[in-house]
Amino acid sequence: MRKHYDIIVVGAGSAALLFLNFLKEHFDVAVFEEQSGIGMKRHCTGIVSHRVLNIIGKAARKSVVNKFKRLCIMTETGAKVEIIPSNPVYVLDRIRYLKELFYNVRDKFEFYFDHRVMSIGTLKPCIRLDNGKIVYGNIIVNAEGAIHRIRRQMFKNDRKKAGVYGIQMDCVGKTQHVDEFTVVFSDNYAKGFFGWVVPLDEKHVRIGIGGENISLNTLNSFISFLCAKGIVHVEEKGKPFGGIVLKTPPRWRDHYERVVMIGDAALHVKPLTGGGLYVHALFGRKLANIINAKFEDVEYLFSKYEEETLKLRLRLKIQGLLSQVFHELTLKEKEDVLKSIGENVEIKYVDYDYHEKLLKNVILERPRSILNILNTVLSTKNIKNLVYGLKVFLQ
Ligand SMILES: Cc1cc2nc3c(=O)[nH]c(=O)nc-3n(C[C@H](O)[C@H](O)[C@H](O)COP(=O)(O)OP(=O)(O)OC[C@H]3O[C@@H](n4cnc5c(N)ncnc54)[C@H](O)[C@@H]3O)c2cc1C
Repeated sequence: MRKHYDIIVVGAGSAALLFLNFLKEHFDVAVFEEQSGIGMKRHCTGIVSHRVLNIIGKAARKSVVNKFKRLCIMTETGAKVEIIPSNPVYVLDRIRYLKELFYNVRDKFEFYFDHRVMSIGTLKPCIRLDNGKIVYGNIIVNAEGAIHRIRRQMFKNDRKKAGVYGIQMDCVGKTQHVDEFTVVFSDNYAKGFFGWVVPLDEKHVRIGIGGENISLNTLNSFISFLCAKGIVHVEEKGKPFGGIVLKTPPRWRDHYERVVMIGDAALHVKPLTGGGLYVHALFGRKLANIINAKFEDVEYLFSKYEEETLKLRLRLKIQGLLSQVFHELTLKEKEDVLKSIGENVEIKYVDYDYHEKLLKNVILERPRSILNILNTVLSTKNIKNLVYGLKVFLQ
């Protein structure tokens, strides 16, 4: 290990590996990962749009385990809307995906596993490792994930609660249609977020919940509920896994001095679902391309990065506003929203990544439903959430 690198990366999760896949190999790069290998901590469901396959190519394509043509959104009480995405949606084998990304770059850059970064220095950019060693870099990329240990050291006034906990398990079992996954809104099992049922193939299904105060017991009860309703048939349950699902949009800027954050560390997610893989790909590719072109001028490259990601941030912030209001609705209110759209209706040509477009589709196709939706959403409690959402929007 050297004393100085062009670029130091904290963490070797999907955001870091994606960024490295777009970075030119002539840079001296050191990556520090606290786990002993790639993909040791399993947390993600792995659902992505066709765009991820297009941007990332082989590593993503090789990792596809199932493809969906439909998505069912329902409430625990039975209100339902069928969504037909304009392009198929995929579920990836997340561990394989990470390994494929890693194989592409392991000979180009230096990887140090079992090395935890304890802190980052910003004035003279450096990291301090758990063995006390200090390593310097021209640029430090913090890709520590949703844990935000280092992020909080840097942004002291950061929002404390940016997400909810998500827990899931792979079961031997099946759903009615292997090409459809289901999202369930529920106050009993997934308050403040939702539950999901994702068939992996004809014989396996991934079932999970995210929300406030959830536990393994809640997940087990959710599975019993789904079985009783005939939504899924489960023969054998697997081991639980999970992590923090973020539902807060990124800030207008992710860098401080020569330190830049990417991935969950930078809140690069779609706030309505917590999906990070597509958003990381966009930010990671952009940052790498700008560094490839203008590494010498760090100030310029960060301002260029900010400028070129502005539109994306704006879209995610709009989604963040929707997320803040929608996830805080009571189950009854969510049910009313779905019923306003129309019970058991199909909404076609939905963009899986840009959720704000779904609202636009609904407004254009069912203009009358928007009045009912506004009527439901604009209660005093929900206006408070909207105001909070606007505060987050401005940050
Ligand atoms: C339950 C659940 C379901 C999800 N489902 C989906 C989905 O279906 N689709 C989707 O797109 N997204 C999904 N997500 C979100 C997605 O998993 C994340 O956005 C993505 O994994 C974040 O990638 P990352 O590289 O930023 O962080 P991580 O994948 O968490 O990687 C961070 C890495 O940094 C390492 N690290 C942390 N701190 C240090 C340190 N101090 N020193 C050294 N190493 C460190 C960690 O060990 C880890 O390897 C889900 C998340 C959860 C929790």
